[in-house]
Amino acid sequence: MSRGLPLSTRGLVHLYHSDGHDVAALSGVDLHVAAGELVGLLGPSGAGKSTLLNLLGGLLRPSAGRIFLGDVELSKVADRDVDRLRSRTISLMLQGAARNLLPYFGVRENVAYAQLVARASGATDLPEVAQVLETVGMLARADAPLGSLTPGQLQLAAVAAAVATEPAVLLADEPTSQLDHRARDAVLDTIARINRELGTTVLIVTHDPEVASRLPRTVTIRDGRIGGEGRSGEEYAVVTADGFLPLPGHVLDDLPPGTLVRLERDDEVYRVLPVDRRPGTAR
Ligand code: ADP
Ligand code: MG
Repeated sequence: MSRGLPLSTRGLVHLYHSDGHDVAALSGVDLHVAAGELVGLLGPSGAGKSTLLNLLGGLLRPSAGRIFLGDVELSKVADRDVDRLRSRTISLMLQGAARNLLPYFGVRENVAYAQLVARASGATDLPEVAQVLETVGMLARADAPLGSLTPGQLQLAAVAAAVATEPAVLLADEPTSQLDHRARDAVLDTIARINRELGTTVLIVTHDPEVASRLPRTVTIRDGRIGGEGRSGEEYAVVTADGFLPLPGHVLDDLPPGTLVRLERDDEVYRVLPVDRRPGTAR
């Protein structure tokens, strides 16, 4: 494959049906990731990060809303074609390295197997297996059984299998959780290098503030919606398609739901003034 593709969603909604009722995991996500971007997806547990990743990766189908991968509307593609895209164009790494690997194969065979599946659906110009292993720094451990690898090496093996087809998009669900600092840095550096050198579009879920601070852009999900944007560690809020401005958590502590605020414009600056706290206002 080639360079990265842009990835975007519009009004993405996902419901799970459990115990006879619906749980809204995502309730209107508008996200745009440019081709070749490296973006971190943050948010508290249960916010909908894995659901979003699984939808983008074609593992789940959305209840409503649209997903675009380059010019293709993924949310409209037939199941068989989604499988083809998943084998070549989009790679989804589920949380937990082992879930992405065939346990009775070594590292090399896992990479070769990912390529075999891609060739079966028509891929031709795939990189040499050795080159893939070199890219992730696992050439020396190519023939090691998975059981003999450290947790960090196992995650690198999962990265190798995920990028075996040089996908246009790499989606990784918490690839650095449960790793010590050195292994975490090795995995993050490897993913960042793949993004830089191959131009792969990367979306990586993390709850580690240190990982987040090293990513050029972060998007925070809260209660199934985009709740904030970060640039190199600085937090911003984004106006949603329907005109709402989600407040970051620490601001929400100061301005709880229901607070009446006034918006005042002062040249380029907007001030948000809680009505009963404006200077000079009688209490
Ligand atoms: P995160 O990855 O941010 O922790 P998830 O996407 O896993 O969040 O979950 C979002 C919400 O959807 C949570 O309320 C979770 O309980 C619910 N959920 C996730 N998977 C399922 C499922 N298979 N069935 C029912 N509810 C689910
Ligand atoms: Mg999750």
